[in-house]
Amino acid sequence: MKKEGKYCSFDFSAKPDREKFAQNVVEYFDRKVQEVFNTLGVPLPGTKAQIKFSGTSGAMYITPNCFELNYNIQDNDLGAIIHECLHYTQQLPQTFYDKNVRVIEGVADYYRITLSDDKQGDYFNNDKRNLVEKFDTNELYNSGSEFIAYLRKKANDKDFIKQLADKINSKDQKQLDDFFKNKFGKGYDTLIIEYSKNRTQEIGKNPKDISRFDFFTNL
Ligand SMILES: [Zn+2]
Repeated sequence: MKKEGKYCSFDFSAKPDREKFAQNVVEYFDRKVQEVFNTLGVPLPGTKAQIKFSGTSGAMYITPNCFELNYNIQDNDLGAIIHECLHYTQQLPQTFYDKNVRVIEGVADYYRITLSDDKQGDYFNNDKRNLVEKFDTNELYNSGSEFIAYLRKKANDKDFIKQLADKINSKDQKQLDDFFKNKFGKGYDTLIIEYSKNRTQEIGKNPKDISRFDFFTNL
């Protein structure tokens, strides 16, 4: 049992009762994969991504060409596909990924917000609508994306995240390290600790009152 799209194929035989959902996923995936790849300026994949149900949590990009969705994923929880499409553009070696996991996941979750239809990550609840109350330098997604959005403001450059994504996609550690040093005179680790300490002053008001989409898109 399969739904075929232009850029993906969804084998939903593990959950045949979710045929309508599978159709929605295929349409959403086809739209978002184009938005993500075009935003990053990379050529669209020549082969279809294979999507299937599995026991993983949320949506998870597993192999270079296979996306697995949890059996019980909610109908209105599709934004993770945007996040995983970022990884789909990257195809990173594991060692490079492990060393730079915070910045890589931050970029993926940044685009999840900015490229979502509802401007809050196409998530099943409103948890991604505003900034998180407590910033955590080790939390990869909500804090990680907020931090690089802050750096974008600090650099006063609307093209900043795209440039950062380019450095990640270069898979060259020196290029990525130099990017932060050239822009700010310091490395990522130092910058995030400083931000964590000064966050309240930097953002000016209660984070729970700040729209994440606005924070990510305004300069
Ligand atoms: Zn990820």
